[in-house]
Amino acid sequence: MLPLIDTHCHIDLAVFEQNREQLLGSAWQTGIKAIVIPAINAADFDSLLAVAHTDSRLLAGCGLHPLYLKHHCEGDFERVAGLAATDTICAIGECGLDYTDKHSDKIAQQSLFTRHVALAAEFDKPLLIHANKAVEDVLLTVQKYPAARGIVHSFNGSLQQAQRLIELGYSLGFGGAITYPRATRLRQLVKQLPLQSIVLETDAPFQTGFTHSGETNQPAWLLEVLETVAEIRQQPAEEVAQITTATAVEIFSLEL
Ligand SMILES: [Zn+2]
Repeated sequence: MLPLIDTHCHIDLAVFEQNREQLLGSAWQTGIKAIVIPAINAADFDSLLAVAHTDSRLLAGCGLHPLYLKHHCEGDFERVAGLAATDTICAIGECGLDYTDKHSDKIAQQSLFTRHVALAAEFDKPLLIHANKAVEDVLLTVQKYPAARGIVHSFNGSLQQAQRLIELGYSLGFGGAITYPRATRLRQLVKQLPLQSIVLETDAPFQTGFTHSGETNQPAWLLEVLETVAEIRQQPAEEVAQITTATAVEIFSLEL
């Protein structure tokens, strides 16, 4: 059994209410040693923390997701800031920029994201960054806070952007998207990047991999992501597990 860490998994969501314990059971059996749960909006903070408190292997993040910009209000960020100062959470996020909806308020997104990055730098907590059609602006923001670090999850930028993020101390998260044979550009990226800068994630219940396409994603299926990285890079899965897990352990200051 290979030691793995799911660095991005929304196991707190209501869709898992009926089978969460069972899915976590199979995740632990698969060799997963820790699961990082990113927050989406303030309404979910309490239930997320309640789920995270059930098992020391579940690590809570806290942040405001850019896709829910309209749902966030001023007091919400104060709650993120309050939690950031405590050991209750291990990461700041999910936060970031998403430009897929061209009507979304980019300035408001950037301002909210900047506040998260500043918080991460202040409290030395890793960021869980969402960057969709916005990697360049994410780079511009994180460049202003050299003390901040973390993961750009479900990375889908260019090799050059990946290299710039790595130089700034960030790691890149890859999940189910790389398991699709037609994802040639993404798979090429996984091949070219230093393994030390890659971390694995499921993003469950989203981004289900090729094998289970059409089903609700779950943390145990991180194994498919691992096997895909190993296959693309033609490296033993043991080596990929060991190195990507070591990177995640360092990011989240874990003791396995
Ligand atoms: Zn997410």
